[in-house]
Amino acid sequence: MILAYHRINSWYVNDALSVSAEMFEFQIRFLLRKGYEPVSLRQYVREKDSGKVFCITFDDGFADNFLVAFPIMKKYGIKPTIFLIAHSIGTEKIHEKYKDREKDRYLKWKEVQDMLKAGVDFGSHTLTHPKLTELSRKDAWNEIFGSKKFIEKNIGQRIDFFCYPYGIQNEKVREAVKNAGYLGAVITNWKGKHDLYSLPRIGVYGHNSLFAFRVKLWRANLFSR
Ligand SMILES: [Zn+2]
Repeated sequence: MILAYHRINSWYVNDALSVSAEMFEFQIRFLLRKGYEPVSLRQYVREKDSGKVFCITFDDGFADNFLVAFPIMKKYGIKPTIFLIAHSIGTEKIHEKYKDREKDRYLKWKEVQDMLKAGVDFGSHTLTHPKLTELSRKDAWNEIFGSKKFIEKNIGQRIDFFCYPYGIQNEKVREAVKNAGYLGAVITNWKGKHDLYSLPRIGVYGHNSLFAFRVKLWRANLFSR
């Protein structure tokens, strides 16, 4: 299964996108104790889901992924994939939902580089996080292909995975992602058909109790059979 997170921190208690550091570690330990093996998204795609592996992904590229989540993942040998909003990384931009310049900033390229060296993988989450289905063909292509080139230039490594903003996509968008040279793309939806360009993920949110987390895992296992 593939898990989808946004932020890990201990300064927001009522934010759906923020899972506390304690809960995040608890969830990892729970999975390991249940015999799930952590794999990278690359391995996951290559080896197919045996039902006993898990893969961790993050959307948007918040700085707390580096400051809080990264040390925890290192401790357990987890190699996540972080989907970057290319034109927000290394800038002063703040996500519309937040306002604190330090707590809510996006990753710096230097932080991306440091994680890269430690085996973290990066994917594209477009240039500016638009609803891809509402764009012209040309603009959508620029968001999909342009972000791939932009991130590759900044990190000096191939970008192979893509994440649709808001999980919104259709046949045309999926086709463009494929043509842009991505090996796969993730969604956060269990309805419809699944293939390499619509890999379903379990969204984990700040308000999810450990019980809710367990129910989500159970449902995901049911659906993937
Ligand atoms: Zn996003």
